[in-house]
Amino acid sequence: MKDWVREAERLRADFPILSQRHPSGAPLVYLDNAATAQKPQVVIETLARFLKERNSNIHRGVHWLSQEATALYEAARETVAEFIGAESAEEIVFVRGATEGINLIAQGLRRAYFGPGDEILLTQAEHHANIVPWQLVEEELSIKLRPIPLREDGSFDWVEFHAALSPHTRLIAITAMSNVLGTEMPIAEIAHVARQRGIPVLVDACQAVVHRPISVKEWGVDFLVFSGHKLYGPTGIGVVYLRRPWGEKLPPYQGGGDMIRRVSWEKTLFAPPPAKFEAGTPAIAEAIAFAEAIRYLHQRVGWDFIQAYEQYLSDYAEQRLGNIPTLKLYGTARPRGSLWSFTLEEVHPHDAGTFLDQAGIAVRVGHHCAQPLMDAMGVPATIRASFAFYNLPSEIDHLAHSLERVVEFFSPVG
Ligand code: PMP
Repeated sequence: MKDWVREAERLRADFPILSQRHPSGAPLVYLDNAATAQKPQVVIETLARFLKERNSNIHRGVHWLSQEATALYEAARETVAEFIGAESAEEIVFVRGATEGINLIAQGLRRAYFGPGDEILLTQAEHHANIVPWQLVEEELSIKLRPIPLREDGSFDWVEFHAALSPHTRLIAITAMSNVLGTEMPIAEIAHVARQRGIPVLVDACQAVVHRPISVKEWGVDFLVFSGHKLYGPTGIGVVYLRRPWGEKLPPYQGGGDMIRRVSWEKTLFAPPPAKFEAGTPAIAEAIAFAEAIRYLHQRVGWDFIQAYEQYLSDYAEQRLGNIPTLKLYGTARPRGSLWSFTLEEVHPHDAGTFLDQAGIAVRVGHHCAQPLMDAMGVPATIRASFAFYNLPSEIDHLAHSLERVVEFFSPVG
C-alpha cells in the first residue's frame, strides 16, 4: 500500500495544477475527476510545442509545416485506434467530445437506418448526452426510447433487459460506466446478445475508458464514444469509433471542406471515412496533445497501477464515508470505477459542496446530467467525489473529516 501511495505522489508531481492552494489558503484537493481530469505537464508541453513549432492547417498543404501537422494529426488517430483495439485508424473520427460523437451517430442513423416504430434500448443511468440526441430523432421519426431500470445496487438488470428486447429493438445505446454510480455495465455480454439478434450496440465509454483498458474488438460493439478531457487530455477533442462498414453506411454529419472528394453545383462526392465525418478544420493541436496523454497513461502510469490503486482509493473512500452515520452511498455494485455519489441527511448537496470548497475540496454537486437517474433514485441531487490515480488516501481523510464538520454544522441545535 505504502508503495502505491509513493507512486501516486511521484505521479502527482507531473500535474502542475495540483500543487496550487485554494484561495482560502487550504491545499487544493481535486475530487472532480469524473467531470474533467487534470493535465500532466507533457500534455501541456505538447500542446504548446505544436502551437509554437508546427502550427499549420492539415491535409491540403504542400509545405513543410502542413505536412508535419498532418503527419502528427494522423499519427494521433493511429494512437487512439490502438488504444481502444480498433482494427484500423479509418474507424476513428475526431470530434469535439462524446456529446458531439453521439449526435453524429444519432443523425447518421436517423437518415440512413431508423424507421417509424423502431426502438432504442438504454439504461436509466444514461448521461443526458446519451438521451437527448435520441430524443431529437424520436421527435422526427416516431421511434421510441426504452430505458431499462437498474437493480437497487446500481447493477445491470438482465431480467429488465430481456423483457425490453423485442423485434422492434434497432439499437442498444448504453453507458459502460455510470458517471453517477460508478457501476460498470456488462458490455461484452450485452453485445453478445445483441449480435445474435443483429442489433448494433453503441457504448458511451466516457467514464469507463479512464479506469480500465478497453477493446472494441473484444467487446464486439459497433459504435463507441469518449472525450479527451476526462482522459487527461485537452478539451475540444473526442473520439467516435465507427466499426466497419458503419463509416461507409452513415451519411456525413456536417458538410464543408476536407470531407469531400469532388464538389460541383450538380453533385458532391464525399471523401471516404473518417474524413467524411470531419468537415472543416479540426482540433489539430488538441488531437496531438490527446495522443500524448494516451502515451503518458501507457508508458508512465500503466493500467496495472491505475486499476489496482483506483480500486484501493474507491474501497478506502467507501469505508471512510460509510462510517459517517447520516451519509448514504448510492450504487454499491461491483465492478465499479473510483467514484462515489452520496447524500447527507438534512443537508442540501449544494450547501455541502460550498462548505467543502472552503476546505479546498473540489467535488461535484447536482444532478450530474443524469436527471432520469436522479428521478429513479428519488433525489434531486447528490454529492460526487471522483478519484484519479494522483489522488491520495490523505485527501479522502480530509474529505471525510470535512463531511463530519458539515454534518455537525447543519445538525439542528438542541
Ligand atoms: N457520458 C458520460 C457518462 C459522461 O460522464 C459525460 C461527461 N460528464 C458525457 C457523456 C459527455 O461528455 P462531454 O461533455 O465531454 O461531451
